[in-house]
Amino acid sequence: ENLANKIAAGEVVQRPESVVKELLENSIDAEAKNIELIIKQAGKSLIQVCDDGIGMTEEDAILCIQKHATSKISTLSDLEAIRTLGFRGEALSSIAAVSQLEIRTQTAQQEIGTLIRIEKEGEIIKEKVSVNKGTCVSVKNLFYNTPARRKFLKSDATELKHIIDTFNRIALAHPEINFKFYNNDSLVNDYKSGTLEERIAQIFADNMLDALIPVREKTEYLSLHGYIGKPSIFRKSKGEQYLYLNKRFVFNKHINHAVFTAFENILEKGDYPFFVLFMEIDPSKVDVNIHPSKLEVKFDDEKDVYNFVLAVIKKSIGSHDL
Ligand code: ADP
Ligand code: MG
Repeated sequence: ENLANKIAAGEVVQRPESVVKELLENSIDAEAKNIELIIKQAGKSLIQVCDDGIGMTEEDAILCIQKHATSKISTLSDLEAIRTLGFRGEALSSIAAVSQLEIRTQTAQQEIGTLIRIEKEGEIIKEKVSVNKGTCVSVKNLFYNTPARRKFLKSDATELKHIIDTFNRIALAHPEINFKFYNNDSLVNDYKSGTLEERIAQIFADNMLDALIPVREKTEYLSLHGYIGKPSIFRKSKGEQYLYLNKRFVFNKHINHAVFTAFENILEKGDYPFFVLFMEIDPSKVDVNIHPSKLEVKFDDEKDVYNFVLAVIKKSIGSHDL
């Protein structure tokens, strides 16, 4: 663990929320059906994610904490058509450089699991342990060795808010997965697997179920599905517009604008429509998400995408009672 590693880590790991995001995404990539997030002190002292996914062999577990170890890219063209969430093999090594990392993991084929722990001097401790199939990654004392970064962290309340937002954004995109979230030993969220509508109700409020208009449309290279909210659940501030591009949560002001425009005659000043929309597009037609924490995306055919969304949302609004 050297200076270059710590600097690189700063790019991926900006705050406890970034760790939460990377660990949850890894569990999803590992095909977990149950994912549990445990944090203490807003993630500053502990972030732990446990899953029942495919797990890792001992070799994989040691490899995954080395720089640029990823099992998700095998050829160069994969890079252009990334479908999994992780693709750079940088997260775990970066997290390991700025925290006390421990991994417990076991594959379905193994009789016994592996525990890997990084000690302060970068020494790797390895043990055989009995665990359930799947992986538990725990990240203690984030930035303990980079005091300047540690000092930059905001209050527990603010850091917790970021974690909750990310947890919900990810849970929203995966209603087929059970998610649990413990904060300082108390269970805050327990989302059972179900439909997208059910997940929306779990995260936001039960009364949303009657106020959702389905959206579903598809062209040759573009599809859009999800829900938009009726006027009864218009929001008074921005921030509850959930757009996912190929399953990743993103911001794109053009898409937001297209949806807002579709609602134009119905929106009163200060109203913002609620929506959860999933767009699938050929990955080669979007500016690849080079930076891990960058949520902004750019489409090659911005105008086409805008017009598509506008038309689809207008049609959905038009064919439902508001
Ligand atoms: P990436 O996700 O970009 O491949 P990471 O640093 O996040 O890079 O993870 C490195 C590798 O470690 C992954 O490619 C995967 O093989 C393995 N890995 C990480 N987390 C898990 C997990 N929860 N279950 C199984 N394998 C995992
Ligand atoms: Mg990853």
